[in-house]
Amino acid sequence: MTDTVGITALIPPELVYACRHRPLDVNNVVPTSSINPRSKLCAWTAVWRDEIMEGGLDIDSLVVVAGGDCHNALVDGQKVALSGVPTHYFFYPFDRDPDYMASQLDGLAGFLGGIKNKEMFRTISGLKEKGLALDQLRVDDRARASDVFSALISFGDLQGDPAAFEEVLDTIPHTDVEYSSRVALIGVPPIYPDFHEVAESFGLHVVYDELPYEFVRLGGNDLQALAGSYRNYSFSGPITGRIEMIRQELDRRRVDGVIHYTQFACHHTLEDEIFRAHLDYPILTVQGDLPRSSSEQLKLRLEAFSEMLEVMP
Ligand code: SF4
Repeated sequence: MTDTVGITALIPPELVYACRHRPLDVNNVVPTSSINPRSKLCAWTAVWRDEIMEGGLDIDSLVVVAGGDCHNALVDGQKVALSGVPTHYFFYPFDRDPDYMASQLDGLAGFLGGIKNKEMFRTISGLKEKGLALDQLRVDDRARASDVFSALISFGDLQGDPAAFEEVLDTIPHTDVEYSSRVALIGVPPIYPDFHEVAESFGLHVVYDELPYEFVRLGGNDLQALAGSYRNYSFSGPITGRIEMIRQELDRRRVDGVIHYTQFACHHTLEDEIFRAHLDYPILTVQGDLPRSSSEQLKLRLEAFSEMLEVMP
């Protein structure tokens, strides 16, 4: 029997499928949700919490990524657990200890009933190759950032069906992209579902999405390889590692500026001044709260940022 496992942040989808379960990234319903959370700090966790507890998300169990990621998820995940949903807590090692990472993957596999289909490691590895190729396509100005973002963000759960997802990947249009500036989007993904389209409308070509790139760059064909790869999940470790990776990608993708999206009541917001001190690029910081279309104020700020980048030497 295939059960649906809700996941609150990145865990290896390879492992969930290898255990013959179907992952569902509960964040993916948030940007288009109409839920008005009963109590909240960050809307991302509050919305999926209420969606699950009010029966709007059909899951059989929940894996909460707790250590190294999000304290709000830890608390809202426990509220879901108290409502009766079987829940497992997954912790990334802040010190990158590969043995600790391997023990967490072992524990996750145990919660999911054990590995039954090792072939899924290789299948999903092949899909990630396609994801990386898509990512490169927009770097080469041959695919729209909004299309590529939608595909990459789905690598957390592969939309519940790897075979159908491969068809989705294969139908992303290849097209010559016209733009005025190349920008990177760092931080957690915007809660606004139209963010990439709005940026495009102002001539901003988003050639790097920090978090979705993590989804496709990490992988492995067995538990040991997964442990060696996922222990480097940048959001779960020291910010020095993140800065190093972001710098490398900004350079490789030849960006003109950086947009740092921050979410209201998220601890990652505190990283803004660190990025400003360590990244030598024009930076626009934007903050969102509840899921909704991009506001007029945000559009004005993106337009102004685009105009500023255009006149910069
Ligand atoms: S935006 Fe921040 S607080 Fe909200 S779910 Fe993501 S990591 Fe957690």
